[in-house]
Amino acid sequence: MRVDVTWATAWVRGSARTVFEHRVAHIALDRQIGDGDHGENLARGFTAVLARLDALETAPGDIGEVLRLVATTLMSTVGGAAGPLYGTAYLRAAKVTGFPELDSAGVVAMLEAGLEGIVVRGKASPGEKTMVDAWTPAVAAAVAAAAAGAEPDGVLAAAAQAAEAGAVATIPLLATKGRASYLGERSIGHQDPGATSSALILHEAAVAAAGRAG
Ligand code: ADP
Ligand code: MG
Repeated sequence: MRVDVTWATAWVRGSARTVFEHRVAHIALDRQIGDGDHGENLARGFTAVLARLDALETAPGDIGEVLRLVATTLMSTVGGAAGPLYGTAYLRAAKVTGFPELDSAGVVAMLEAGLEGIVVRGKASPGEKTMVDAWTPAVAAAVAAAAAGAEPDGVLAAAAQAAEAGAVATIPLLATKGRASYLGERSIGHQDPGATSSALILHEAAVAAAGRAG
């Protein structure tokens, strides 16, 4: 089993749906340790992504094309920290996915590139209460799953599960990067918004793959 361009498009549409559904929840999380705009930022970005996807005259030929569309759209429509961070993640991922299909190793490479983009852009390490705390365990779980022989859907499911655990594990952390770091000790006890949205987006990658398994 491999994931293909149809999967990539379904992932993006699923991501848009989950971002819309969690808009208020993300606003609430970002109000606690930030400025409250994370939900609106992502909803605005993915509204633009869907518009550009729907306006395409020819269907994307490879997965990288889909991810590049997401990258450039988020970079130009989402302000704050999350726009450039997600934009760079999708851009890096697009660079290693210029194929009609990906096997498990290709999926791992895509996730590794996404994390690398976030780290290059934001310079955060694991444990600083950022989206890196969802992506780092996700990549580790994907690597382990692929090494154990999982198909792309299993690799993505493992990544999604680890990202969700990673997002929850940001609750007791002290923020030392991004806007939440201004709060110091008061950032402790709240789940990081960017780690939360990252886990939801990675979950949609797994859902889209499960939908076409077999
Ligand atoms: P802003 O903080 O500019 O208001 P958002 O609210 O959209 O932007 O996004 C906030 C999220 O961005 C945080 O919850 C965190 O996950 C992520 N973030 C902030 N700074 C960094 C960084 N340097 N590296 C990785 N992620 C970061
Ligand atoms: Mg914010």
